[in-house]
Amino acid sequence: MDFNDTPEEAAFRTEARDWLEANAERPLRPGESKPLPEPRNPAAVQAAQVWQAHKADAGWACITWPEEYGGRGAGAIENVVWNQEEARFLTPPNIFVIGQGMLGPTIMAHGSDAQKQRHLRPLLRGDEIWCQLFSEPSAGSDLAGLRTGAVRDGDDWLLNGQKIWTSGAHYSRWGMIVTRTDATVAKHAGITYFIVDMQSPGIEIRPIKQINGASAFNEVFFSDVRVPDENRVGEVNDGWRGAITTLMNERAALGGGAAGGPSFRDLLRLAADTEIDGRPALEDAQVRQRLADFYVRQKGIEYTRYRSLTAISRGTTPGPENSLGKLVGARTRQQMASFALDLLGPAGLEQGPWQTAYLAAPGARAAGGTDEILRNIIAERILRLPPESRLDKDVAFKDIPSGS
Ligand SMILES: Cc1cc2nc3c(=O)[nH]c(=O)nc-3n(C[C@H](O)[C@H](O)[C@H](O)COP(=O)(O)OP(=O)(O)OC[C@H]3O[C@@H](n4cnc5c(N)ncnc54)[C@H](O)[C@@H]3O)c2cc1C
Repeated sequence: MDFNDTPEEAAFRTEARDWLEANAERPLRPGESKPLPEPRNPAAVQAAQVWQAHKADAGWACITWPEEYGGRGAGAIENVVWNQEEARFLTPPNIFVIGQGMLGPTIMAHGSDAQKQRHLRPLLRGDEIWCQLFSEPSAGSDLAGLRTGAVRDGDDWLLNGQKIWTSGAHYSRWGMIVTRTDATVAKHAGITYFIVDMQSPGIEIRPIKQINGASAFNEVFFSDVRVPDENRVGEVNDGWRGAITTLMNERAALGGGAAGGPSFRDLLRLAADTEIDGRPALEDAQVRQRLADFYVRQKGIEYTRYRSLTAISRGTTPGPENSLGKLVGARTRQQMASFALDLLGPAGLEQGPWQTAYLAAPGARAAGGTDEILRNIIAERILRLPPESRLDKDVAFKDIPSGS
């Protein structure tokens, strides 16, 4: 493992930093976190779009994308360097992760030429925002159990059913949806993938209220929603292939451990500034023990991340270690936030970054693969333990017992 920039990476870092210094609002102050997205505030959404368009016009949007779609054909490691640098500056929150990190790559891999020409540039520029319509009330971890149906009707398809937890559906112009098109074959084999216009008649979007008062995601209902066949991504009944592309990109986007919010350093500062029995908490033996535990885990995550960065830098694909980073990282952030609230005492009831982090933590442990699903991946793909038994693998979807 080599943690230093190569000369080329160092030159690229300087170029990125110079542009950000000239164009971003300002560098973040020590201990300052980036603002959280305000998904129900149109002005905040618009500010994110203006910043995205500004980056795109200067060649700093989706830099790994091919030049023909507005990227600069940069390598994965340059992307890491760019993200590290942008993270040091005060910029509007990135509300484009799902579209640009997961759905754009799926269109590039499985979409028609017409879909690529129509959609990729406005997606890169942030002119059109996208959402991911995958999860359903009874199909989350077991996504292939989805039931939203699509039935052919002339040159169109008619969609009926319900999706849930759809982040950003309310401000998205387009969505990517997986549907059931054949229930007589095994569950993975009867799925078709579409691009859906979120302004189509028959779509109803209902916000879901979260524990922190925000409503970043939604329920989305489909009643005879008409989707032209030209919006199909890939072949009929071959949508699972596209879904896997989306999910692989999702884990890569979420697995790097780059989640925002307060850090271990912030916790250390809090322990130095808080008193227990008239002395700084940092001098208390039990507090020091907890802090040491968190430090060790943070370092473990950091060095695991360096391992996948080194793999990227050498041109190989990082392995399932991203699942490790996401599993341990999300749990550690939850435990650090809980400990910070303990240290704050009654002040922990006030609104602040640790409270926000604490309330967001359970969602972070579910989104992009729950703890248990990540453990299954680690067991099967890292530890090479026998796979989980999958009893419904070769059964026609219509014959799988269900409550409905
Ligand atoms: C903040 C947030 C944003 C999200 N945004 C989106 C979005 O934009 N689009 C979208 O489509 N979805 C989105 N989701 C949904 C997310 O993908 C699902 O929550 C996730 O896949 C888990 O599915 P589920 O909630 O249905 O839980 P379930 O799959 O029902 O799981 C329930 C429990 O059972 C456990 N479990 C399930 N299967 C197994 C197994 N095989 N072995 C052991 N334990 C198991 C799980 O670990 C969990 O504890 C979002 C979720 C969150 C929290």
